[in-house]
Amino acid sequence: MSDRLAFARALYDAVPLYDPKRAPVDLDLTDNTNLWGLPPVAERTLREIPVHRITRYPSLYAAELKEALAGFVGATADRLVTGCGSDDILDSAMRAFGEPGSVVASSEPSFAMIPIFAQMNGLQYVGITETADHQPDLDALLATKPRILYLCSPNNPTGALLRRETLERAVREAPGVVFLDEAYAEFSGVSAVDLAMRVDNLLIVRTMSKAFGLAGLRIGYGIGAPALVRDVEKSRGPYKLNAMAEQVALAALHHDMPWVNAQVALAVENRERLAAALRDRGFTPLATHANYVCVPVPNAVAVGQALRTLGVAARPFAQLPHVGDTLRISVGPWVLMERFLAAFDEAAATVNGGEAT
Ligand code: PMP
Repeated sequence: MSDRLAFARALYDAVPLYDPKRAPVDLDLTDNTNLWGLPPVAERTLREIPVHRITRYPSLYAAELKEALAGFVGATADRLVTGCGSDDILDSAMRAFGEPGSVVASSEPSFAMIPIFAQMNGLQYVGITETADHQPDLDALLATKPRILYLCSPNNPTGALLRRETLERAVREAPGVVFLDEAYAEFSGVSAVDLAMRVDNLLIVRTMSKAFGLAGLRIGYGIGAPALVRDVEKSRGPYKLNAMAEQVALAALHHDMPWVNAQVALAVENRERLAAALRDRGFTPLATHANYVCVPVPNAVAVGQALRTLGVAARPFAQLPHVGDTLRISVGPWVLMERFLAAFDEAAATVNGGEAT
């Protein structure tokens, strides 16, 4: 790259700035956040934050929040680490467990930041195409002898749930640490926290960005053996979770669980309704356990562009293995889904002449 400075690290030549192409639109269904808004007590806490919380430093490692999160997931606080979004947990954990050049293996398709975090930390990323039933190809992943094996359940972007026996085998046979990204676990009702309580090489990564509606505050956390999470915490460093985020997260966990659970239930209901509406139109959405629907659509990139001209954004993926072009649509209140469907009908008709396949 010609615009790089002479003293810049060569490593960063190949590292792109993340650009999911999210130009503002009226209705943004690209990032799988909570389209119902903020939990009410969290919102009040945010508005009434005392000045001293902001003028002083936050707690070093968010001890109080770790207690509350431990109660929420059914773990103990010594098994928790918090971070500035689950992005920060993933990044810090790669730094904690990867030596320079170590292999980070991930099933593909999956979370687009994983290769970038690997590169950012001087690690070697290896992507292994998933099987036709949207499960990781564990034999091929293990054959890379990964220092870090990344799995995601429900997976982004497919929405597929990882089979429990696959996870257990990964944990048994992986030569290093297994990261299990459960960013969307609240929408599946399935979690492997119980397994992380029993083994020492499984790091579960969770977030308050999705079900809790707090993406802008950047609150993520990891769950694993005490020795495992302590090293993530060392690599993460002190004061990473800001004071406002900690107070709002505490309010949500202590007072807003009925609200969160109700929105999750609605997201699940609307996800199935949206999938049914797409099936009615002749499409075949993938089975999803998250708060988004991934649907094969011919020429998805062009359909995504046509949607944008109508003020609606969904995330297109070109040529996903086994399924081809797809659109990933975040699920929200049904009025928004109706608006999406109307725009989608128009965009698909413009690009594909109304053909589903
Ligand atoms: N993991 C997955 C699978 C995601 O989809 C996302 C958000 N797009 C993240 C992690 C990061 O979320 P956050 O940093 O907001 O916690």
